[in-house]
Amino acid sequence: MANLMLWNDSDKSKLIELFNAGKSVDEIACQLQRTPQAVLNKCTRLSLSFRKRDKKTVLRKKKEIDENEIPCLRCRENFKSEGKFNRICDSCRNINAGYVGVVPG
Ligand SMILES: [Zn+2]
Repeated sequence: MANLMLWNDSDKSKLIELFNAGKSVDEIACQLQRTPQAVLNKCTRLSLSFRKRDKKTVLRKKKEIDENEIPCLRCRENFKSEGKFNRICDSCRNINAGYVGVVPG
């Protein structure tokens, strides 16, 4: 009797491909015409962890933001720096503009 839930090699490589492309369980299930539960079971057997993968993605995104944003020297709020010497956020720069000699640097 044919097992409808059997995974052949092309199903498996498609699953890994979609997994690595960052697709969700539902999207993969839909593309492979299987239930999300079947996809999850197969992923577990192939040692593919959605939780680990998504955590990595979040960490990578966080790092990208951290590289562009630095805390303002004055108010400590993170802001997008325009460069090495841009260490004060726009709102603090406006405040500092009113005082002579207050701008650090
Ligand atoms: Zn500031």
